[in-house]
Amino acid sequence: MDISKIVDKVLLTPKSALPLYSQIARVLAENIKNNALPAGIKLPPERELAALLGVSRTTAINAYRQLEEQGLIITKVGSGTYVADLTPSLQPTPAVPWSQLFTPSPNIQLSSILRELIASAAAEDIISLAAGMPDPALYPLKHFHRLFSQQSSHLNGSDLGHIPTEGYLPLRRALAARLIKKGYNITPENTMIVSGSQQGLYLITKAFLEPGDYVIVESPTYLGAIQVFSAANARLLSLPALGSLPLDLLEDYLIRYRPKLLYIMPTFQNPNGRVMPIEERHKLLQLAAKHRLVIVEDDPYGELYYGEQPPHSLKALDPYGGVIALGTFSKILFPGLRTGWVIAPETVINRFALEKQYIDLHSSNLSQKLLFDYLSEDLLDGHLAFVRTEYKKRRDSVAGALKRYCSPYLTFALPSGGFYFWCTLNEGILTRQLLHEAGKTGVSFVPGEAFYADDSGSRELRLCFTTHPEERLLEGIKRLSKALHVLANNNTGSHERRAVTPII
Ligand code: PMP
Repeated sequence: MDISKIVDKVLLTPKSALPLYSQIARVLAENIKNNALPAGIKLPPERELAALLGVSRTTAINAYRQLEEQGLIITKVGSGTYVADLTPSLQPTPAVPWSQLFTPSPNIQLSSILRELIASAAAEDIISLAAGMPDPALYPLKHFHRLFSQQSSHLNGSDLGHIPTEGYLPLRRALAARLIKKGYNITPENTMIVSGSQQGLYLITKAFLEPGDYVIVESPTYLGAIQVFSAANARLLSLPALGSLPLDLLEDYLIRYRPKLLYIMPTFQNPNGRVMPIEERHKLLQLAAKHRLVIVEDDPYGELYYGEQPPHSLKALDPYGGVIALGTFSKILFPGLRTGWVIAPETVINRFALEKQYIDLHSSNLSQKLLFDYLSEDLLDGHLAFVRTEYKKRRDSVAGALKRYCSPYLTFALPSGGFYFWCTLNEGILTRQLLHEAGKTGVSFVPGEAFYADDSGSRELRLCFTTHPEERLLEGIKRLSKALHVLANNNTGSHERRAVTPII
């Protein structure tokens, strides 16, 4: 390439404060950047450039050196000087060491179980009995379509601005009215709308727990609660949750450890479906009142009963104002609304509001307005009656199929509400083995270990019976049975936990 035309444009100003070599470098750089001097072109040797421009060879050398430092030209020994390739290199740039920058996370193992579950639920060929979800086919879509379009045609500017952190007041009022009918002694000021009850759990954790604080949890308990408490470096004390609640052990914990909270699901416990009888509720509350224990009552499933209505919630029976209640629309309507609630004394709500401001200022107005409209039209009870009938049918056919196809390797108690079968495997079969084998037959579930704060649960599993229509559920149980039979026939007991041999 003849670069003399470019070099001609180099008008040198000897009196300028900019040295001559920089003036030359600047003009050449402009031409390289605008591609007038394209990548790979050979530039004149220094001596030639010096002659072309009428400058000393040192000036030409310095001009090239400056361009080289800028990465615009390269010198190949014995060959000459070339315009460098400025297109971004395909070489990966050094990566940010993200994992070294994260704050310590105590929960990696459990979180990965959850992530795998979500992934497996999404795989088309796998029937997921893992995720605890209502059936999308039963969502009250017709009503929500109508309410959506009504809402969108009437929205005005103030609907789209900020609302108080505690939530959309009409919804708080409607919610309080609904809960008062269920025996709660509250006002709207005791309610707070949260982005799912999971956020409620987080707010409770932020407001009450410091590293090292003790929290009593049922054993087994809800995975999301174990995660959020552990992330705050709380210490978890397990209270066995099968059969009657061991109140003497609870009292022992209260005296010995002075725990900050008891987290409990008295109605259709997740995962084991247990319902705490009314007498036990009263005894628990008496004990809690005596020790001024704060109880966090999580009740996402209370309205999903398939026989008798369950007893009043702890919050409704609360004699000392120490119960904080959590609820959600996720299981009774649909989870994408991301709308739940916390019920607590006003002082506590005020503190939660402060914590919530750090996270999201307030939950979505649109979901809250939509839910308010839905409740105002008195549609929820009809929907609940409908899903209760449908889920009861599903529960019964899954129970029948489990008995028919999975006996004698798997046992369970019939849940009287909620979403789950909590199953125990026979001696000799481990849930992890079954999960692995079930992956091959095309079904998934949550292994029992996910629900324990210690390392229990190796022979238990949770199956959700609400997400799919009956036929698919039955196919899921057949696939589970296939996996069980493979293991039962092959099992040599080699995967059993080995006894610890002393090192001598
Ligand atoms: N608590 C329990 C016991 C649950 O089972 C769930 C959902 N699996 C939640 C809280 C969280 O529900 P959400 O955040 O969707 O309201």
